[in-house]
Amino acid sequence: MSAMTIPDMARIVRHHGYVPIPVDLDIDTAAPTIDFLERATTTATRGLIVAHLFGGRIPLDDILSFANRRGIDVLEDCAQAFIGPNWPGTEGCLASFFSFGTIKTATACGGGVVILRDQQLFDDIKTAQDSWPVQTRAHFFQRVLKVVLLKLLGYRLPFSLLRFVLRVIGRDLDATLNNSVRGFPGDHFIQQITQSPSGPLTHLVARRISRFDSCQLSRRKALGSRLAGRTSDHVKLVGHKATGHTFWVFPVASHDPDRLITRLRQSGYDATQGRSMEIVTSPEQRIDTAPEMRALLPQVVYLPLYPAMTETAIDRMAEVVNEVESSGH
Ligand SMILES: *Cc1c(COP(=O)(O)O)cnc(C)c1O
Repeated sequence: MSAMTIPDMARIVRHHGYVPIPVDLDIDTAAPTIDFLERATTTATRGLIVAHLFGGRIPLDDILSFANRRGIDVLEDCAQAFIGPNWPGTEGCLASFFSFGTIKTATACGGGVVILRDQQLFDDIKTAQDSWPVQTRAHFFQRVLKVVLLKLLGYRLPFSLLRFVLRVIGRDLDATLNNSVRGFPGDHFIQQITQSPSGPLTHLVARRISRFDSCQLSRRKALGSRLAGRTSDHVKLVGHKATGHTFWVFPVASHDPDRLITRLRQSGYDATQGRSMEIVTSPEQRIDTAPEMRALLPQVVYLPLYPAMTETAIDRMAEVVNEVESSGH
C-alpha cells in the first residue's frame, strides 16, 4: 500500500488476512517509485493499493506494467482525488475507490463508490453486499446533522466558543475535530462498514456526482497553483508535482511545524498538522520499507486553502510561510 493513507485502509487489509506493507513515496510527486515498489514487493505480494494523495493524481502506466509483470492486482484509492463524473479512475486498475465522506471534495455525509473492472468480482461483491444490513434513515440524518454543526463551526463565534470549552475541559481542538470528521469513529469498525447505504444517502451521492461543481474545483486549483508559485525555494512542498493537482489539501514539510502553525494562527490562518493520515507500519520481522515517509510525517503542516479565500489572503499566507521557512536555513 502507498505508505501514507488513513489508518482504516490498513485495518481493512489486515481484517481480510493480508499483511499490509508500506511502499515509500517520492516527496515531490507523492507517488510510489518503481524502486520503492521493488523494495516492498515479495513473491507473496498479491495486490497494490495506490493512493492519489492531497488532490493530485499519479500516472499509473509504469506502476501497472510493473504490477502486471508480477501478477499483482492494482487497486487505486481515489478518495482525495475526486474531480467529478468525467474521471472514473484509471483503466487497468482492478478497482477504483471514491469517497463521499465528511471532509472530501464532494461530501454526501458518507458513502463511497467503487468502480470494478472484473465482472466476476463485481458479482461476488454484489452478492455479499446484498446480505448486509441497510443503513437506517435515522442514522443518515444524524450524520447530516453532524455535518451541519461542523459547517457552522466555520464561523468565528461558534469556533471560538468550541475552542474555549475544549480548553476548559482539557481536550485538544485538533484531535477532537479530526475525530469528529472520521467516517467511522469508535469501535466495531468492520461492522460499521459492512452496511448498505440508505436510500437518501444513495440519492445524495448520485446528486453530488451528477451535479458536480467544477467551478469550485477550478477555483481551488487556481488558488493552490498560486500559493505554490508564491512560496520560496526554502519551502518544501509535498506532492506538488503530481499531475492535474486540485489541492484538496496543501501540505508543506516544515523544519519547525509548531512555529509555522503558531505564526500562521497569529496572522489569522488556521493551519494544522492533521492527524487523519498515518504511515502504514511495517511487519516486525521486515525492515521498514517507508523510511522517507516516516521521517516526513512529523514535519507535515496543512495550509488552509478554500475556494472562498481571496488572492490577497493567499499571497499574505505565502509570505508568512516564506518567512518562517527561510529562518533557520
Ligand atoms: C477519506 C479517505 C478514505 C475513505 O474514507 P471514508 O470516509 O471511509 O470514505 C480512504 N482513503 C483515503 C486516503 C482517504 O483520504
